[in-house]
Amino acid sequence: TELRVSDFEKIRVLGHGNGGTVHRVRHRRSAAVYALKVVRADPLLRRQAYREIDILRRASDCNHVVRLHSVITTPSGDVSFLLEHMDGGSLDALLRRRGSRPFPESALASIARQALLGLAELHSRQIVHRDIKPANLLINSVGVVKIADFGVGKVLRRSLDPCDSYVGTCAYMSPERFDPASHGGDYDPYAADVWSLGLAVLELHRGHFPLLPEGAQPDWAALMVAICLGGAIGTVAEGAASGEFREFIECCLQKESGKRWSVADLLGHPFVARADGIESERALRELVRENSVES
Ligand code: ADP
Repeated sequence: TELRVSDFEKIRVLGHGNGGTVHRVRHRRSAAVYALKVVRADPLLRRQAYREIDILRRASDCNHVVRLHSVITTPSGDVSFLLEHMDGGSLDALLRRRGSRPFPESALASIARQALLGLAELHSRQIVHRDIKPANLLINSVGVVKIADFGVGKVLRRSLDPCDSYVGTCAYMSPERFDPASHGGDYDPYAADVWSLGLAVLELHRGHFPLLPEGAQPDWAALMVAICLGGAIGTVAEGAASGEFREFIECCLQKESGKRWSVADLLGHPFVARADGIESERALRELVRENSVES
């Protein structure tokens, strides 16, 4: 039988996005817990919701992409996504619950490795995310990291389908997407996802958005200046981290997209390859437990 929204009891709001609200819900009959993302009946939002559903379905067998269980529509035209509930929330909320205290490197190694595995799964299906940032990386109490929110994701039909440059959150956009020469969408969207991931990992290491002074609003002009001046970008102060970590970040944050490492290369980088060990996975689980969401 078809699911209805009334089959679920809303427990609390997990977050708000562009498209709508995400609730933690309990299926009344089975008591199973899910995240329910409700998108309003607005035609534009609905078109975007169906694009996101298409991507989530193509990625349904990915281990590091949040799982879509089903789609529920209402007569009024609302579209609801029944998603796997990630009980640790997003990495940006986790950072805030820590009072912006940086994540330890061991936990970051596991986060980087799992997010790269997710990107590898997506990229091998010609899917680009285009909005990788801490708010779109979710975690659970087992320590599993998954990529969420494909609101501006895209399935590339040809090997290098032109991509609109100006989608996603501008703060995490790679330099080539700011480049006037790429306004027609002439940039490598896979490499752009790598930049955003490098920036997200660096943010969790620093405790705040890394390209601008702490507290500054990441607007277009400030970002362009930061990226063009470049000095401090993509570098981690010596002594602040291990050589492996600094090098890993440098490989992700190469300003020239051609020099940036690919997802496959990065999975072989010592910083991440090392994360295969149980130590970093345990560090990550502990981090989630110490800063758990009150229930
Ligand atoms: P939008 O596409 O509208 O921006 P998101 O999918 O990014 O919405 O969700 C917004 C927020 O809701 C996320 O940052 C996260 O905090 C929370 N959230 C989304 N999906 C889940 C989930 N499956 N489990 C737990 N929390 C979630």
